[in-house]
Amino acid sequence: MFKIARIKLTAWYLLIIMGVSFSFSGVIYVGVNRELTRIANFQRTRIQGIIRGYPNPVEISLGPDADAINDARVRIVSILALINFSIFVFSGLGGYFLAGLTLDPIAEMIEEQKEFVSNASHELRTPLTSLMTEIEVALKDKKITLADAKMLLKSNLEEVKKMNDLSNYLLKLNKFENGKNTTQFKKVDLKEIVEKSIEKIYPIAQAKNIKLIQKTESLVIKANEESMNELVTILLDNAIKYSPSGSSIDVLIKKSGSLIVRDYGVGISPKDLPHIFDRFYRAEASRSKTKSEGYGLGLAIAKSIVDQHGATIRVESRPDKGSAFVITF
Ligand code: ADP
Repeated sequence: MFKIARIKLTAWYLLIIMGVSFSFSGVIYVGVNRELTRIANFQRTRIQGIIRGYPNPVEISLGPDADAINDARVRIVSILALINFSIFVFSGLGGYFLAGLTLDPIAEMIEEQKEFVSNASHELRTPLTSLMTEIEVALKDKKITLADAKMLLKSNLEEVKKMNDLSNYLLKLNKFENGKNTTQFKKVDLKEIVEKSIEKIYPIAQAKNIKLIQKTESLVIKANEESMNELVTILLDNAIKYSPSGSSIDVLIKKSGSLIVRDYGVGISPKDLPHIFDRFYRAEASRSKTKSEGYGLGLAIAKSIVDQHGATIRVESRPDKGSAFVITF
């Protein structure tokens, strides 16, 4: 599909360039031709004048060499044809190269989109299949008791919850990747955002007996409040998810313009580090060690938010020692 599009785009480039080139050649030819005719007429008049000036005028009409003028015309046409041919070849090659440059990011985007749809469908299919199997088995069981039915409904509810979580993540990803929130920027104090997020996430940390240690200074930035809440919550949520119970998490804000969320949990291996911001990426180690639920979308959302605020996010992490996510505004 992209090969045909590339050829078509090249043809359009060529059509435009050759259109301009032919028009210029036409104008040049008409101009030069007019000049040649004018010079020929001028020479003819001068020669006739010289001959008439003699004491006994002779009626001779001597003009410039017609062959030489025709020859000049043919040479101009040949030069113009050669120039046009060179333009055709160079712009054809250049156009093909530029068409490739134009279409490559689009092709990449479509490829990413396809991969995204395939990953999302895969993630949806797992709970759906499990839901279907459980219901089918229960329907075939003629001696199902009320207790069994309740157990089944409980398990079904868990699968439905997973699908609900996934659809919420997908909606958020769409919202933040499309930059729908970037129009509502205002001055916000990052310290207040962190306090709100900690308050929200506190019950989860408490359930795991994890201490949240806040070392924050007031830092006013121009940002979208909802996006900032989401960003801090994602980082805190991950820090809790990938930390052992009884550990602690530090949240720091530095006046120099950075926010750091540091945990002392499972850490991230160097081979996973370059991919953790990719959509649907989950490191195998953290999955098996923490048995945590997730879709690998949190950090992709975090990265979108950071990008839209013109900030940067980086990770410092060592397996089994912990991770620090540093956002610089
Ligand atoms: P999820 O947590 O839902 O799997 P994320 O996009 O939030 O998805 O994170 C992607 C992956 O990055 C996680 O699966 C995990 O392997 C790794 N990760 C993120 N945060 C941490 C952290 N604080 N400690 C260790 N690993 C982490």
